[in-house]
Amino acid sequence: MAYLNENYLKLKAGYLFPEIARRVNAFSDANPDRAASLIKCGIGDVTEALPDAVREAIHKAVDEMGDRSSFRGYGPEQGYEFLREAIAQNDYKSQGIEIGAHEIFVSDGSKCDSANFLDVLGSKNRIAVMDPVYPVYVDTNVMVGHTGSANDAGRFEGLVYLPCTADNGFVPELPKEAVDIIYLCYPNNPTGTVATREQLEAWVAYAREHKAIILYDAAYVAFVQDDSVPKSIFEIEGAHECAVEFRSFSKNGGFTGTRCAFTVVPEKLMAYDETGDAKPLHGLWSRRQSTKFNGVSYPIQRGAEAIYSDAGQAQVSALIEHYMGNAKLLAGGARAAGLTVYGGEHAPYIWVKNPEGVTSWDAFDKVLNDANVVITPGAGFGSMGEGYFRISAFNSRANAEEVARRLQDIKW
Ligand SMILES: *Cc1c(COP(=O)(O)O)cnc(C)c1O
Repeated sequence: MAYLNENYLKLKAGYLFPEIARRVNAFSDANPDRAASLIKCGIGDVTEALPDAVREAIHKAVDEMGDRSSFRGYGPEQGYEFLREAIAQNDYKSQGIEIGAHEIFVSDGSKCDSANFLDVLGSKNRIAVMDPVYPVYVDTNVMVGHTGSANDAGRFEGLVYLPCTADNGFVPELPKEAVDIIYLCYPNNPTGTVATREQLEAWVAYAREHKAIILYDAAYVAFVQDDSVPKSIFEIEGAHECAVEFRSFSKNGGFTGTRCAFTVVPEKLMAYDETGDAKPLHGLWSRRQSTKFNGVSYPIQRGAEAIYSDAGQAQVSALIEHYMGNAKLLAGGARAAGLTVYGGEHAPYIWVKNPEGVTSWDAFDKVLNDANVVITPGAGFGSMGEGYFRISAFNSRANAEEVARRLQDIKW
């Protein structure tokens, strides 16, 4: 008899996006005349084309693969040196941050890296997640058995939920109890808010004091508009001993369908064995990748490298400007409709407070019915998301303008 991993049975059955799809389909069936003008501002996926510089680099690499003399088979599991060097130089050294190419591990996505990293961590850690949260952090911990069952509010027994509210600016307060692993994501999905340097300093100090590790997801770093907002956890002194950073080309370079990301594991990062001895995680992660992963394809790594070229940088800036222009329009539209708006200044998400007494799913139905727009109900990201909805700025300019206008049509 083959036994299954019963942890999977604890998961909420992929509730959020299927439920959105169900409601949208029901609406479209009931209102066939309006289906064509439906605008989707729900799922956080890019909409604009891959930068030219990236496409040219991929084309060229494909041609190299077509010639026996420049053909490449298996690449290094940690990523090609040319890409690791480009990342270390452009994302870290040029910003005055001490991170070497050997501390960078190229992968096919931050989603998988954040999940896979649990492989090198023990099973006894107390794990803290933000609420609202990017659901991947929670579900992957459920899958490996780090939690009990979910309660009625959808919270899993055994996880420490850190409330992110308007009162704390959507940056959690330090937990009263000791935790060992802390997931932080800034600029944040879903709230679109950022953490200040002082707030990250407090988290790093906490992690050092408790010998804890911060898993820092910086997928949206490219959307940060000025230097007052930290771009990397490694800007904070002491973070090299207590943090991992996940970065991705998905949202800056439009790589959601192309797949390339990287994880920074500093050599100084320590975790502890049963006897309390500190051991570096760098070698364990390298070992894990060498065994379970065979690297990202050569053409795609060349495409990612091209993001750091002058042309690539200019094209990525234009993409960011496009999405952030949308964010400004959408935030303005929501404010003009009398709603309270958070985020959207350094991130492509707007976090909107519902009018008093309106639940997330009520707001979803209202926006769908009155404005013919699909948003994401905040409750789908955790119990503290109740009473909010998320608007994604990943769209065409024309759609963003139209949504900003239609938000005024909603009769709350
Ligand atoms: C989009 C996103 C990522 C990127 O994931 P990939 O697997 O690299 O596409 C990571 N974290 C968050 C919070 C995201 O929203």
